[in-house]
Amino acid sequence: MYIKDIFAKNETVISLEVFPPKAQVPLEDVLPAVQTLAETKPAYMSVTYGAGGGNTANALEVASAIQNDFGVTALAHLTCIGATRDAILEILDNFKARNIRNILALRGDFPKDVPFDKDSMEYKYAYQLIREIKAYGGFCVGGACYPEGHVENPNKEKDIDNLLYKIEAGVDFLVTQLFFDNNMLYSFLYRLAAKNINIPVTAGIMPVTSGNSIKRMCAMSGATLTPKFRAMVDKFGDKPDALRQAGIAYATEQIIDLISNGVRRIHIYTMNKPEIAGKILENISSIIH
Ligand code: FAD
Repeated sequence: MYIKDIFAKNETVISLEVFPPKAQVPLEDVLPAVQTLAETKPAYMSVTYGAGGGNTANALEVASAIQNDFGVTALAHLTCIGATRDAILEILDNFKARNIRNILALRGDFPKDVPFDKDSMEYKYAYQLIREIKAYGGFCVGGACYPEGHVENPNKEKDIDNLLYKIEAGVDFLVTQLFFDNNMLYSFLYRLAAKNINIPVTAGIMPVTSGNSIKRMCAMSGATLTPKFRAMVDKFGDKPDALRQAGIAYATEQIIDLISNGVRRIHIYTMNKPEIAGKILENISSIIH
């Protein structure tokens, strides 16, 4: 099923993100967790993709298992940084052969340690990949968006201007970068409305369950930390069980506030942890049904 058709139903949509194992790691290390998450019956599940294509095969296998074995619509992420057109077309052939019909089209981040010739890239921006997939045909295509602005942009105005390239390329829906302050999403939605961008936007929620990962994630994403969030990490950062419980409560509250304010599409970054996503889903079970 196309994700745009799921969104058209006008219901609250909860989706989950998982990541595939690294290239040398067996699929069996990850598939049981993915299956447990699929059993919670999310509207769809997305599978991340390593920029540079290092784990293409595993990403395809995990997306295929979701779509064909676990009975949940799969959204396969695909990055274009450093990829040739031939390689992208081959991946699209493989997705099609495995009945995967939804792609989140991304640029990917520039590698930090390896020299990279930006001028020789066949795809410089995600909108070019979106255009490629649309020209290929038969896929529903999502793109990334950034409530607090993408880290490479000088300001939020420029960020929305650049987002327009994805809209013009025909993107069907957007998924946000993680955020911890819902006001960031609400003001982003106002900025989209001001530019007459009215395609579906899915709010990406990251439950925080480890003090170390949060510092890394925030540095990468540029997400603002609210005083409430900071107090939680300060207080429980070195107490894993307490932080896990507090992180689940924080994500639950964020989701309830979003739904209360009319945001109907929520994407939970599960980090392949069914017990955490499961608790959140239990906390909101009567709210979403
Ligand atoms: P782009 O849309 O190409 O944007 C990159 C930068 O270029 C932005 O600053 C943008 O404003 C600017 N820009 C865009 N178009 C133009 C233009 N025409 N002219 C000038 N500037 C322009 N990374 C992975 O490696 N694997 C994943 O699976 C993955 N999943 C993600 C899922 C979500 C929901 C999100 C939000 C991010 C994900 N990322 C993933 C990270 C993503 O690859 C990075 O954030 C990357 O830096 C930008 O990707 P993009 O697709 O938004 O790129």
